[in-house]
Amino acid sequence: MSEKMSSSATASHLEDIKKRGFYLDDVYRHVKSFAVKDVQVVEDGKHLHIEWEDGHVSRFYSMWLRHNCHCGVCLPHTNYALIDFTKLDANIKISSAKKESDEVIVVTWTGENSEEKHHEGPLLTRFLRHHCYSDAAERTRSKQRAMTFHEDKTIPTLEYDSVVNSDEALYKWLVTLSERGICLIKNAPPSLEDMLKATRRIADVQPTIYGTTFEVESAPSEVEASNPAYTRIGLEYHQDQIHYESPPGIEVLHCVKFDECIKGGENFFVDMHEVAAKFKAEEPEDFYALTRIPSIADTVNYKRENPVHIRIQRPLITVNHKDEIVNVLWRPMLMAPLQVPEKDVQAFYKAYKKFYTLVTTYKSIYKHRLRPGDMLSFNNRRLSHGRKPYSENGHRLLQGCYMNISEFQSKVEAFHNKIGGGRFAVRSGAIDWQ
Ligand SMILES: [Zn+2]
Repeated sequence: MSEKMSSSATASHLEDIKKRGFYLDDVYRHVKSFAVKDVQVVEDGKHLHIEWEDGHVSRFYSMWLRHNCHCGVCLPHTNYALIDFTKLDANIKISSAKKESDEVIVVTWTGENSEEKHHEGPLLTRFLRHHCYSDAAERTRSKQRAMTFHEDKTIPTLEYDSVVNSDEALYKWLVTLSERGICLIKNAPPSLEDMLKATRRIADVQPTIYGTTFEVESAPSEVEASNPAYTRIGLEYHQDQIHYESPPGIEVLHCVKFDECIKGGENFFVDMHEVAAKFKAEEPEDFYALTRIPSIADTVNYKRENPVHIRIQRPLITVNHKDEIVNVLWRPMLMAPLQVPEKDVQAFYKAYKKFYTLVTTYKSIYKHRLRPGDMLSFNNRRLSHGRKPYSENGHRLLQGCYMNISEFQSKVEAFHNKIGGGRFAVRSGAIDWQ
């Protein structure tokens, strides 16, 4: 009798959660489910211990669990939790917890000094295991999210037709960009519309002060060019548009014309995260100076029809709470006068000179001379790019666009879940602590 009751209660909790459109089916489809061996309330209700069949132990704080309650009041529909913290006791306790099935644990909480005295709700075990924050689980996640630096210096290629027409090829493009930072799409038709047809498969264009798309072509006279990109001079390693609060993520350079007679003009790339990791290992004191002392990137131009005056102050390198490098921004040309307390000025320049030298002399990991029909895509938040100077003769015309880093990362995560078996996306170089 009691067994029958408990199994029908299980079915209803699970069905009820699924009926409310909780995101389990989409996001947790690939998360391995583990049987629960034991559930125990410990430390006078402060923590819950779950022992799983594989021997792993998860430990959840009372308030963490309350915040993530899966009942119909807390999570009426979709994945937006409605928890009113003003009504909760800061020292909320777990009064009981029981395994209802291998899929559901039901928890009750009590709060003495609060409006909410009692609450009961189910939590999905797959959710708990997936979000377990034990040291072991955190280490595994960090490993999966970490960027890896490759010895292979060839640029991976795909065909334009395939990325436009097949989801499998699009997924390959996403994974390559995510894990190598660069991918060459071959045989793209020359029109702007054709370039956008491919890039829109990832995300819409991220516009900048230079428009939604841009062209790189020599200006008639180098004096008239407002940006050195529009001349034939060489460009040192840099990332584009770092004066933006969210600098563009994916950059695409689509070659329309590049006459064979032109000497030079090759693009070359370096992985800024690889360089920063080396800097951290070799010069820790200077590395941390650059994570702490902010510099300013600016773009100011009042000669334009719409005057531009963008300034942003932040450190060149960002590390997360686990001391992992998550973001590096590099474009010395855009650096405005340093504006920090005097005690930091000398420390900044000591570190900056060393990092500048390391970046500038770092051997390129990728080199490429674009040919008409090439659409070179790369992660502007991970790679710095440069260009060799090129000769006066002949015609070189590139068109390009940017995509936002969050939208790119979103597409990678979604495709990992859709066709990639649910793996995590590696860090993209966004200012994202994961
Ligand atoms: Zn609830």
